Amino acid sequence: MAPSCILENGIKLEHPNPPSGFRWWLQQMISSVCHGCRKILGVKAFDDPAFPFLCTECLKQLPWFDPEGRCSRCGMEQETGMQKACGHGVSRQWHLDQLRCGFVYGGMLQDWILAFKFGGRQSLSFLLGRLFALSLMGQKTENDYDCMVPIPLHNKRLKSRGFNQSLLLAHHLLRNLKRHSSLLKPRLLRRVRATTPQTELPYPERLKNPDDAFAVKESLPKGEVLLVDDVMTTGSTLNAAARTLKEAGAERVSAWVLCRTLFEKT
Ligand SMILES: [Zn+2]
Ligand SMILES: [Zn+2]
Repeated sequence: MAPSCILENGIKLEHPNPPSGFRWWLQQMISSVCHGCRKILGVKAFDDPAFPFLCTECLKQLPWFDPEGRCSRCGMEQETGMQKACGHGVSRQWHLDQLRCGFVYGGMLQDWILAFKFGGRQSLSFLLGRLFALSLMGQKTENDYDCMVPIPLHNKRLKSRGFNQSLLLAHHLLRNLKRHSSLLKPRLLRRVRATTPQTELPYPERLKNPDDAFAVKESLPKGEVLLVDDVMTTGSTLNAAARTLKEAGAERVSAWVLCRTLFEKT
């Protein structure tokens, strides 16, 4: 039986695709080092869930997102015992049918995301894609969509960064979930208006900022469209993308984000 890592909340994680045969021998030639504690990962760690990137101790310490007590459509905290539906924020309409988050934005994970996005360390997408997949496998929702659409960047930002982080994450996510790469539709949604980065705006402006930023550029496949993004703050970018997709005729739109900030309002 494959070794597993059990998280504090009882969720059991296993390696999505442990090395076997030739890969196993190849792996022995290259020593792997944990991205968290720099410990050398030996033969015994080969089947661990985050091998060859992280040891299980570091994996356990990550800020895993707990969906308990949070709205399944927007991720906002719900008051205990409240039965009625969440308002999804007061000043806007909410278009996502479901939202899943892997982690809370912080700690080591935040450092890796910053190095990946702004430090040009694209190789971190292998680690982040594995963690993304493990977090969603723990929530048992890895198969509920018909196409995967990474949140696009505006051409200007794509040129300056050189890659779209959400596309890279979506690619590694599919590989780790062992789903077919044809599910990925990176050109379906286009960013037609450049927006100020959400992190540079105060909260009320963040809510309005991405309105009309997107356009649908390909015919929509039937079924559920799944949006993928790296970091969610207020959710207004995802909400604007979902609105555009629904206006173009999408039946259901859900989203997976690698991590989200936990503040609701400032
Ligand atoms: Zn470690
Ligand atoms: Zn809600």
